[in-house]
Amino acid sequence: MSKSDIEGKAALVTGASKGIGKAISLSLAELGVKVAVNYNSSKAQAEEVAKEIQDAGGESLVVQADVSNLEQVTAMVDKVNDAWGQVDILVNNAGIISDGLLMRMSDEAWHRVMGVNLNGTFYCSRAVLRTMVRQRWGRIINIGSVVGIRGNMGQTNYSASKAAILGFSKSLAKEVATRNITVNVVTPGYISTETVANLTKVQKDRIMTWIPQGHFGETEDVANMVAYLVTEKASYVTGQVISVDGGMAI
Ligand code: NAP
Repeated sequence: MSKSDIEGKAALVTGASKGIGKAISLSLAELGVKVAVNYNSSKAQAEEVAKEIQDAGGESLVVQADVSNLEQVTAMVDKVNDAWGQVDILVNNAGIISDGLLMRMSDEAWHRVMGVNLNGTFYCSRAVLRTMVRQRWGRIINIGSVVGIRGNMGQTNYSASKAAILGFSKSLAKEVATRNITVNVVTPGYISTETVANLTKVQKDRIMTWIPQGHFGETEDVANMVAYLVTEKASYVTGQVISVDGGMAI
């Protein structure tokens, strides 16, 4: 029996060396999907993820690229195409923060966050679309954030980059809908990753008051939603923003 209706398809997951991207990569591999594990600087961790997939009988590839750099994105997608012929599933997960109040925000902090979170999503999506259109099948999942919906003090750059992803995704969903390509956004709330672990107790206690379910989410909560969206079961779901946040965006 096949593992899923998308067994054998090829996925590219950006920022897959740790956190949410790692969990997404492992859950796609469980569906029998080949996974290209992208990282920027965490080579050893990305190789670990790829090995974990292979040890479980799956197929994986490690691809380095700073997604904010067009040349590197082009080379990365070429590498996946050379190995597997195409990218059927793209998960734009790579993301960074560089927090600070707007009055004191440097140009660097603004442009870097936009460069990775927004330009990276644009570069990667454009690079894989031609093949998706030609083969009349594709899945693009963009990872947004509850902060792109609600806003958050000290995160104007991050919030703007994540809010922009919503408009980008809805517009692209309309452009490619007749080609059997779906484009959706998953917006996590606070998920137990390194970033969240590094918050102070005071910050964590304050955030907890915003979450109706009263606890942080797990990386698997986000990965499970992505795993649904990439299958045929979700073929009529496109242009949607789906929160995985314990009710925080309500
Ligand atoms: P994380 O643990 O900090 O991991 C970030 C990943 O992105 C790493 O694999 C990192 O790779 C990669 N990355 C960073 N800059 C990159 C670049 N320029 N090019 C390619 N890859 C790059 O992050 P996370 O918490 O799992 O977050 C993943 C996504 O979910 C992000 O888009 C984030 O905004 C979003 N999100 C997270 C939360 C949360 O609570 N954790 C909530 C809402 C949304 P290297 O280590 O190799 O640089």
